[in-house]
Amino acid sequence: MADLNTDVRHIKGIGEQRAKALGKLGITTLRDLISWFPRRYDDRTQAKKISELVPGEAACVAAMIASEPKMSHIRKGMDLVKVRAVDDTGVLDVTFFNQTWLKNSLRQGETYIFYGKAEGNLLRRTMASPIVEPEGRREFTGRIVPIYPLTAGVSQLILSRSIRQGLDDCAAILPDVLPDSVRQAHHLCRIEYAYENIHFPESAKALDLARRRLAFEELFLFTIGLKRLRSRRETVHVPPCHDVDMESFYGALPFTLTDAQRRCVEEALADMRSGVPMNRLCQGDVGSGKTMVAAACVYFCVKNGRQAALMAPTEILAKQHYAGLAPLLEGLGIRCDLLTGSTPAKTKRSIAEQLAAGEIDFAIGTHALITEGIAYRDLGLVVTDEQHRFGVAQRAALAAKGEHPHTLVMSATPIPRTLALILYGDLEVSVIDQLPPGRQPVETYAVPGSYHQRVYNFIRKLAAEGRQAYIVCPMVSENDELPDERKAVTEYAKKLQNEVFPDLKVAFVHGKMKAREKDAVMTAFAAHETDILVSTTVIEVGVDVPNAAVMVIENAERFGLSQLHQLRGRVGRGKHQSYCILISDNQNEETKQRLKVMAKTTDGFKIAEEDLRLRGPGDFFGQRQHGLPGLKLADIGCDAQLLKEAQQAAEDLLARDPELTSCPAAAERLRELFTQAADTLN
Ligand code: ADP
Ligand code: MG
Repeated sequence: MADLNTDVRHIKGIGEQRAKALGKLGITTLRDLISWFPRRYDDRTQAKKISELVPGEAACVAAMIASEPKMSHIRKGMDLVKVRAVDDTGVLDVTFFNQTWLKNSLRQGETYIFYGKAEGNLLRRTMASPIVEPEGRREFTGRIVPIYPLTAGVSQLILSRSIRQGLDDCAAILPDVLPDSVRQAHHLCRIEYAYENIHFPESAKALDLARRRLAFEELFLFTIGLKRLRSRRETVHVPPCHDVDMESFYGALPFTLTDAQRRCVEEALADMRSGVPMNRLCQGDVGSGKTMVAAACVYFCVKNGRQAALMAPTEILAKQHYAGLAPLLEGLGIRCDLLTGSTPAKTKRSIAEQLAAGEIDFAIGTHALITEGIAYRDLGLVVTDEQHRFGVAQRAALAAKGEHPHTLVMSATPIPRTLALILYGDLEVSVIDQLPPGRQPVETYAVPGSYHQRVYNFIRKLAAEGRQAYIVCPMVSENDELPDERKAVTEYAKKLQNEVFPDLKVAFVHGKMKAREKDAVMTAFAAHETDILVSTTVIEVGVDVPNAAVMVIENAERFGLSQLHQLRGRVGRGKHQSYCILISDNQNEETKQRLKVMAKTTDGFKIAEEDLRLRGPGDFFGQRQHGLPGLKLADIGCDAQLLKEAQQAAEDLLARDPELTSCPAAAERLRELFTQAADTLN
């Protein structure tokens, strides 16, 4: 086997058909395959006696088949195989649906391991469709079994056999990106051991070692990658900006900026005067007024005779920014325009010409602004809003284009400092840690599912007062398949419309919709053409609907604190008292504590710190919106201590060997990761 980029279809034992199925999970190369980490593990090491089986609990049991399996045909498309199994403590009746081959493969008098949920009572235990294998085989029982995220047409069996095959094929060629010295200093296992045991753990201890090693490796690589991006940029020189009288800008605002906003503006302007491209993250809770910080920077840049662009992650957000900023800035002599995917071709051409001629000073839009063959006469500043949707990939892409505008990224995701160092290792950070005066905090309640009717009544009451509501419904996954968000949302919305709110207008939005459809739904909601918006978390990103006064989150236990906080930030943006209702029946102590934190505090940074303390970093990385190529920590887990160690190791190595000549495997992997990230945009 040549290398990890080999197409999976060339792996022994994986044919065209299986390769196609794996493709549905995004697995196309050998590397993808062995990096498809289990979502969780079932500990099936211990087999119980039949008499020890607890109804309702999944367990392994070793039992001998006592009678010939019997097959019956219940109805069309439904065949049943029944067998009776025994051990020295009791009798277990086992049934299998539609697995007719078992009638001939299960043999009377032989012992098998059954793994499944036991039912029944003390006298008679039963199991329906358990996993079964001959005693001693130990493929799916008798050990810690990986449970992979699945999709239709790809079963656990297919995945674990394919991965087994993949691992066997590449055992000899797995490049170790960690230098031996680092590995030894941090007590990390070898790469072959790590991959073997993350998939097929020999023991709980081995699994732990594997996870630790793989998480460390990712963090280590990212720290190095971002630090190198940063130092490369620091060698670039651009003409420094000159001073501008900002008072005419401040004087044109309908309010006074908060001290925190002023500080962020000052920090950004100092960067732009320095002669090195600005790379700054402006972090501020929802509603902290990041837009005006951006506007101040745009004003400064344009008054320096250069152009500026503001990129939003969605069309509707771009339109909102345009509607908010253009009147203000036009009044100050700045020529603004809006460019998005739905701008008619003719207008687009004209805007492109004006940008190239320098006749537009400030362009607002989606990322079409920097990609679709748009050229600027002199682009001095790029602001990206809601940073987590853009991320490193965009930063890398801009750098790759060989242009060095100042960049300011604005994020509403508060991130604890330790994590910020990893996620934004290539950026300077400003924090807006203060809200404009006079904000009413969103009243937050955590309630059990039995409150549904009361919650609906409350929504109805607010709707009668002219308000709107968001309802976030969870994505439920069945049988470890990747959850079907479309189904979850549409079915819940239909139920609400027909059974609960026939007199109100219920709309829905989910991530599987086309961008244009999503925008249409959001626009209609913003215009109050609909009353209730059901969604998954796609509404997390900042559309401003000041009239929405209640956010209901179903199965709130499924969300991380930071995510809950983001969602809550969708309400309380107008003059109306707003509410956030967290519904959960989960009795877990940790969950209860988390939801209590939400009810108690509205400070995003406090919540983020608490989240890190309660759940570890996986939750932050797990949002998968950080744009960091290849980070899979959510799946394999890590802790804050490991984070620090990896960071330290990366810094030490770079100080010793900035070009990574001593570890070519790491240099190679970084090239791949960061080029791929930049490529996804072009
Ligand atoms: P975010 O940080 O979430 O992007 P915005 O920039 O959208 O916040 O600001 C939220 C709201 O607060 C806007 O309506 C904005 O006009 C208003 N705002 C911003 N700064 C101030 C301020 N210093 N005083 C009063 N209102 C402000
Ligand atoms: Mg904003």
